[in-house]
Amino acid sequence: MQRNVTVNALVLRTRRIGDYHKGVSCLTPQLGLIDVLLYGAYKGKGKYSGITEPFSQLHLHLYYNPVKKTYKVIDAEEKNSFSIIRHDLPRFYRASLFSEIVLKSYGGGGDSKDIFILLRDALTILDTCNPAQVECTVIQFLWRFLILSGMNPDLNYCSMCGRQVGLGELLTFSQEENAFVCSRCGAAGNFTLNGGERKYLAYTARLPFTGAVKTGLVKSSVHPLRQLLLTMIQNFLEYPLNSLKNNLL
Ligand SMILES: [Zn+2]
Repeated sequence: MQRNVTVNALVLRTRRIGDYHKGVSCLTPQLGLIDVLLYGAYKGKGKYSGITEPFSQLHLHLYYNPVKKTYKVIDAEEKNSFSIIRHDLPRFYRASLFSEIVLKSYGGGGDSKDIFILLRDALTILDTCNPAQVECTVIQFLWRFLILSGMNPDLNYCSMCGRQVGLGELLTFSQEENAFVCSRCGAAGNFTLNGGERKYLAYTARLPFTGAVKTGLVKSSVHPLRQLLLTMIQNFLEYPLNSLKNNLL
């Protein structure tokens, strides 16, 4: 293991360690999820304390201690502070949801580089999009996260009878199976997906994130689709998400 490493990082969470030190959980394309330490950050002498706050994108120079298995920050440079997200509560709560999902999935289980790019793109769009595009940014983050984790259910076939479903047919999500069933196999439950929503998910998955967010989604589908994707993510993580408590989203 190299003792000095340089990484790109997105700050996911910070915490106080002892009286003075700061622990920062970061997602990096090179090392996946790591915890780095800032000694004396709360003693007023931590020069990088101000830039190591949630969602900052940083360039970090680290020293790895192979005995303690810890990373110490030698130098840090801020690439993007995502200042709109920090000062806008609805956007802040959504960014916190993204960060919680990445932390709870230990980096997504997929390739750290792909998850890093997904999170960086999601934060960049959340920081710059107009208010009307905020929910589509959430939907795209959730859907793309499921695809990268290999947990996206099939949208064309019923998981029970194997039949290819018609274009306009309604599918019902089965939480037990983590898959969709057709109207012949299951009664319409709480979480359904209509033809338009299926088409939207399939089409936007092939677009870059920015293009996907600009793709129109019928207004009446926004909330139900977001709730369905959140249910799928929680099924995958096998944990309730703290970010969804108190109905702040
Ligand atoms: Zn069926």
